[in-house]
Amino acid sequence: MRTELETTLLHCRNLPSPPGVALQIIALAQDPNATLGAAAQVIGLDPALSARLLRVANSPLYATRRRTETLAQAMAMLGLNATLSLALGFSLVHGLRGHNGTAELQERIWRRSVLGAMAARLLGQQANLKRAETLMLAGLLQDIGRLALLQAMPEDYSALCAKADGNAALLGLEREAFDADHAEVGAWLARRWHLPDYLVDTIAGSESGAAEDAFLRCVQASGPIADLWLADGDESGALRESALARIEACTGNGLDALDEVLSLMAASLPEISAIFEVRIEHPAHLQAISDEAKELLVLRNLRQIQDASQAHQDVKVTEERMRQLTEQARRDPLTGVYNRLHMEEVLEREFAAATMHPMTVALIDLDDFKQINDRYGHLVGDQVLRQFAQTVQRVLRSTDFVARYGGEEFLLVLNYSNESAAEQVLQRLLNEVSRTPMAVVDGHPVHTTFSAGIATHNNAPGCQFDNVRDLLQAADNVLYGAKRDGRNRVRQHGTQPGEDD
Ligand code: GH3
Ligand code: MG
Ligand code: MG
Repeated sequence: MRTELETTLLHCRNLPSPPGVALQIIALAQDPNATLGAAAQVIGLDPALSARLLRVANSPLYATRRRTETLAQAMAMLGLNATLSLALGFSLVHGLRGHNGTAELQERIWRRSVLGAMAARLLGQQANLKRAETLMLAGLLQDIGRLALLQAMPEDYSALCAKADGNAALLGLEREAFDADHAEVGAWLARRWHLPDYLVDTIAGSESGAAEDAFLRCVQASGPIADLWLADGDESGALRESALARIEACTGNGLDALDEVLSLMAASLPEISAIFEVRIEHPAHLQAISDEAKELLVLRNLRQIQDASQAHQDVKVTEERMRQLTEQARRDPLTGVYNRLHMEEVLEREFAAATMHPMTVALIDLDDFKQINDRYGHLVGDQVLRQFAQTVQRVLRSTDFVARYGGEEFLLVLNYSNESAAEQVLQRLLNEVSRTPMAVVDGHPVHTTFSAGIATHNNAPGCQFDNVRDLLQAADNVLYGAKRDGRNRVRQHGTQPGEDD
């Protein structure tokens, strides 16, 4: 590849890069001592990925009669290599979706990749190759070079794609413009990501002339099948011919194999589109596959579909359980409000969204809390924290957030609240807390007060913060002021002490 292109790609800040889970899976895939247990640990960290694996294990792609209900069962059924290949495919597809104004073209590239992945897998089965999932992964990644070019040179590459009439023409234009085609760029990227050699080589050879290697031949045929699928009715004649030639090369039989592959792709389409989150239609020009092939398929799939509908139910239950577990991981176990880790995410998200509306944070610290512990013991202290958290939740609106930020510190995010609205909420909370006993000991109410620092981010001059950290720091500074001025009060960033008493 020309060094000039390599330099452009290397300097592209948004060059697609694999997410953390994918990196760990890549490392496992290279490790000869990797075990299913180690893979389960990595994959289990990502509930969405686990749910996808379960879903695919229970999909019509696998004609097993036994339903898999847990990640461990799914992985045992698939085996280590298949699990790693599928997991890598899912996490890459989800990690590599960038946003640079080329979403539509990106989606088109992924659509071709997902169709290619299905086709490669099915061709491998027709050719009696054993590695269905690695073929699927290779099919899926064959066009990552296009994503890289699109990220590095969004305008130039979009223009090239618009100009090209079909994949062959695009390859020619790429070579003319960059002295390298997307297969070469993809292989370069795969090597940088330390993907296994067979993937690097398959991506490199995906657009070349008919290969010796049976595995590569399947991937080479998968692209033209995807193109045929995505073509308009009028162009489909020529594309069908080139797809047939490629299929002939890998299965030794053309027309029947194409019909069979297209039928099976249509059958797996709902599942695959859902798992990879791409919308793929079944085009009218391919719906006229031979009736005989359809009938055969219907018979064969009937049993699987029955199994699959039960499996769907199970997956729903599992997904619900995973959703619960994820929610649990976000909560502070003592008080049930969000924990600090999750709040950092919420803060970043809300801050990024607060361009047209104000966002207020309030840092709250209970006053003389140590004395409550000292006087009544830790258990009563815990009860006070719980009761306080409940009181906060009662006062806040459903669009606001509350987290336990430290021992007896809480952080509120009040969306759409300007300074005066936030001040009112905090004063209301102060009143509510002072009149509600936070615990009862030997029939006597235990009361507490708090101090709070408020800071608001909005578009008004002087009220804008560069980042979440500065916003929190401002709230923390005024909280400190509130403590110093005697506690049991709310202070606002940007106002003089005394103004708001
Ligand atoms: P100030 O008004 O200056 O904030 O005084 P304070 O006593 O509230 O502050 P300090 O930081 O001295 O003490 C906080 C106490 O909170 C100390 C710690 O033992 C207690 N604490 C922290 N986490 C928990 C918890 O989970 N349960 C209980 N019971 N106490 C806790
Ligand atoms: Mg404190
Ligand atoms: Mg305190």
